[in-house]
This record gives sequence, C-alpha cells and structure tokens, in this order.
Amino acid sequence: MAKISVVGSINMDVVTYVDNFPQRGQTVFGEKIVEFSGGKGANQAIAVAKQEKEVTLIGCIGEDKHGESMMDVLQTNQVDTTFLKKLPNTDSGKTSIIVEQSAENTIIYVPGANNDLQPAYVRESIQKQSDCEILLIQLETPYDVALAAMQTAREQGIKVVLDPCPAIHVTDELLKYVDLILPNEQEIIDITGEAVKDEKTAQRAVASLKEKGVRSGILKLGGKGLFVFIDDELTFVEAIQVNAVDTVGAGDCFAGAIVSALTDRLSLMEAAKYANAVAALKVTKKGAQIGIPTLEEITAFCE
Ligand code: ADP
Repeated sequence: MAKISVVGSINMDVVTYVDNFPQRGQTVFGEKIVEFSGGKGANQAIAVAKQEKEVTLIGCIGEDKHGESMMDVLQTNQVDTTFLKKLPNTDSGKTSIIVEQSAENTIIYVPGANNDLQPAYVRESIQKQSDCEILLIQLETPYDVALAAMQTAREQGIKVVLDPCPAIHVTDELLKYVDLILPNEQEIIDITGEAVKDEKTAQRAVASLKEKGVRSGILKLGGKGLFVFIDDELTFVEAIQVNAVDTVGAGDCFAGAIVSALTDRLSLMEAAKYANAVAALKVTKKGAQIGIPTLEEITAFCE
C-alpha cells in the first residue's frame, strides 16, 4: 500500500503555438497544436512515482479518449489508479493554452470530470489507505472535496501537505488542517498580502500563516531561492543555478519530491534541499510531466 496519496486534478493540456495572440474575432494561422497530459494532481503523483515511491491518485476522469490516454500515462509511470474514477458521459478536464512566440501564454481551464469528484468518495478512498502517511493536495478540484480530504487525513493521523494553487480557493477554514504549505511567490501574496523580497518580508508572511494555524511551510520564490519555516525557525535556501528552459510544473515536481523525501524520514530542511535540486533539474527539461527527472537522473545530478 502507498504511503503517499494525492487528491487532485487530471487534465489534458491542449497547447496551440502561435506567433502572436489572435485579436478578438480574428483568425490566425498557428504553428502546431500539441496535447500533453497534465493537471496538478496527475503531475504531482507522477513526480512521486518517478522518485520510485508508491503513490495513489484519487480523482476523476471522463470515459473519453483523453481520459483513456491520461490513464495510460499514469499507469506507465507506476501511479496507482485504483481510486481514479472514470465517469461515463462526462468529459475529462482540459485546458486550452495558447503560447505566443514571446513565451507568454493564456490558459482556459475547463474542469470537466474534476468537478464531479465527490467529498464522500474522497473521504472513503482516503479511509481505505491504511498505510498512508502523507496526503498531498492542491485546489483544482472542488473546495468541499479539498476540505473533506484534509479533515479525513487529520482524523486518520495523516500529514497534510497543501500546494495552495489556485490561491483564490484558500480559506482560513482549510488552513486549519494544513501541516505543511508550499506557496509560490504569487500565492504568498494572495494568502498573506506580503510580497516576499527578503528575510523581513518572509518573516511577515510566515507570521500571517502562523496566525492562521500553519506551523511549517516553504515559500518558493522560483529561481530566487526559497524560505523554509518550522515554527519560529526561518532559513533561506538558494536556488540551484541552472539553464532554465521550462518552469511549467516546477512546483508540482517540487511537491512530489518533498513528500517522497519526507517518507524517507528526512528532516523538512533536508527534504526542502532535495526538492530544490529535483525541481532545478526539472526546469532544465521541457514538459510538466515528461520533464520530471527520474531518481537515476537526480542521483547523477546531485553527485
Ligand atoms: P511554482 O511552479 O509552484 O510556481 P516556483 O516557480 O517557485 O513554483 O518553482 C518551484 C521550485 O522550482 C523552486 O522553489 C525551485 O526549487 C525550482 N525552480 C523554479 N525555477 C527555477 C530556476 N529558474 N532555477 C532553479 N530552480 C528553479
């Protein structure tokens, strides 16, 4: 049985590459349209599996061609899909992404089957994970699902790790059940109102999170490094200097790596340093899922 359960979204990202975004009402020629399996839940579960840890993904897909191919990708990556529900007459979640030559993008997320994930189903699925130590969760699935998942985990003595994306769904009620939070720069602002620039602003953001009941977390600042906080201890860790080519999914990779390291009984500080290296290696590769490094690649990178 898996020690790590992920509750979250599974989406097909349909990406169109164009020179310039079309204006309203305009037709433009694009360069190509490519489909990538994604969704924060699926990305994070694959990141855990690539660390060679057993992981269960709890979520919903539609009984359509996208659902089928995403299921294939998850199983090929050794993610346990026992609790992945296939819904008839429902479309799988999809995102329509347009990427301009400038690398700017626009994204439309259509949750589809992700919105049909039910609190009772999630509760029951977590209760069946008798060996589970960590629940890793994000907020692309309905709010009441996240709340039920976190409450169940707390009841079962399972540690809750929250990637608070999208931060618009974060409430004080949810934060009461969080053991470890992993916000990025924008999410820190959305949740605490603080733009983290240095130790002083980081301390203020941490104070706000602690007021809401969160006692430990990692403030991720992309290529600028990260702050780890555990109660009153705040430590800065530099980002690893790499040639970044694709930062999409860096946070998902980071989340998967950190929970994997925590089940190996590493301290939070050690786990954060490890995840920092894994995510740095990810940004040197393209693709939110195929760019996640394997354990073998990580070992070679860290040597
Ligand atoms: P998110 O993907 O959730 O927005 P970040 O952009 O902060 O989160 O990235 C998550 C982690 O990925 C960072 O904390 C860092 O470890 C790594 N990372 C991201 N961008 C870079 C970069 N340019 N160079 C090195 N590491 C990076």
